[in-house]
Amino acid sequence: MSEHTLHVKVVTPNGVVFEHEAASLVVLDTTNGEEGIMAQHAPIISALQISELKVIDEAADSEEIITISGGFGEFSNNQLTIVSDSAERAKDIDVERAKKAKERAEKHIAASETDDMVRAQTALLRAANRIHAVTGNK
Ligand code: ATP
Repeated sequence: MSEHTLHVKVVTPNGVVFEHEAASLVVLDTTNGEEGIMAQHAPIISALQISELKVIDEAADSEEIITISGGFGEFSNNQLTIVSDSAERAKDIDVERAKKAKERAEKHIAASETDDMVRAQTALLRAANRIHAVTGNK
């Protein structure tokens, strides 16, 4: 790892979903807005939205999208660790499954009381986030 790159790791209760040794830029959707992390960034801990994480490697001319269901990002010593309840690399997302989850959530939202509605709205956000990462549509 050079001083111009950072190490990125996405961890869930199921284990490490994604790891990249030499990213040039990682874009996080935090609860305070979008945050770009490059090598030598000051140490931070941020709460994350249900969102897409963008990992850019300029040397390899690649960009990878990882969907996360919220959680936290911690950066120090050129190491960014994302901890989330669930995360998927865009290439591993089953779009049909996410579309079914979205439909289910929409039905629950229409039919439910407040507590259930919040749960269904969060499920809807997770499904729409996965669909967007693959298709560009929500
Ligand atoms: P579903 O109702 O389809 O299970 P969910 O939003 O309730 O969706 P989660 O509880 O966030 O699912 O995730 C459970 C597990 O399934 C996690 O390991 C997550 O990565 C995986 N997962 C969920 N949806 C998808 C999908 N559309 N494609 C691939 N993996 C998925």
